[in-house]
Amino acid sequence: MNLISIPAFQDNYIWVLSDEEGRCVIVDPGDAAPVLAAIREHQWQPEAILLTHHHHDHVGGVKELRQHFPGVVVYGPAETQDKGTTVVVKEGDEVNVLGHKFSILATPGHTLGHICFFSFPYLFCGDTLFSGGCGRLFEGTATQMYQSLQKINALPDDTLICCAHEYTLANMKFSLSILPQDKAINDYYHKVNELRAKNQITLPVILKNERKNNLFLRINDIDLIKEIDKETKLQQSEARFAWLRSKKDNF
Ligand SMILES: [Zn+2]
Repeated sequence: MNLISIPAFQDNYIWVLSDEEGRCVIVDPGDAAPVLAAIREHQWQPEAILLTHHHHDHVGGVKELRQHFPGVVVYGPAETQDKGTTVVVKEGDEVNVLGHKFSILATPGHTLGHICFFSFPYLFCGDTLFSGGCGRLFEGTATQMYQSLQKINALPDDTLICCAHEYTLANMKFSLSILPQDKAINDYYHKVNELRAKNQITLPVILKNERKNNLFLRINDIDLIKEIDKETKLQQSEARFAWLRSKKDNF
């Protein structure tokens, strides 16, 4: 399997997995044009489209792609039913794509119906987990998002986090503002800064690294708790997560 990212809009990535026969699966095609160009370039035969949630920058290209490739199966959560989804999937379902089983994880928070697709090592997590950060809470609660991130955090160490936006540098600037002395955060910030200075992608990332670099996966970290304690005493992990998320919203 070969994994490629297609840049779209300002900072979106549309992920494409292809096999040796050139069959491919496209994840969250918010825009059809760059996908059609890549299909022509690589001579792919699209077999399926995976949708993580209903936002336009993730689903906007689906209907046009289906006009070009009427046989394509579009898997998505119920909230994408009117966006071109042909098979609605939910937590616990498994779909067979390119001969690989993808399991569906419900990950509400960014939207209420948000799902992730997992087939080791690939996790297509849309706008749930970003490198160094997590999605905004547009529809769900902090507790829902916290639990969704816990679900992702329980996946194997070498899971490849394929998220949908290039937000890493901004996320690490925020993380530095919270824990300026943290070695992992400093090291990762410098690495990401160099990549972005050369206009290079920072993704995908490996879950075991993200556990060190991403404060939203370090909610019970002693240094983070000390930092929160300066402002307020929060006993619950969910409450500390909510504190961190609202700090990021106002950063
Ligand atoms: Zn979104």
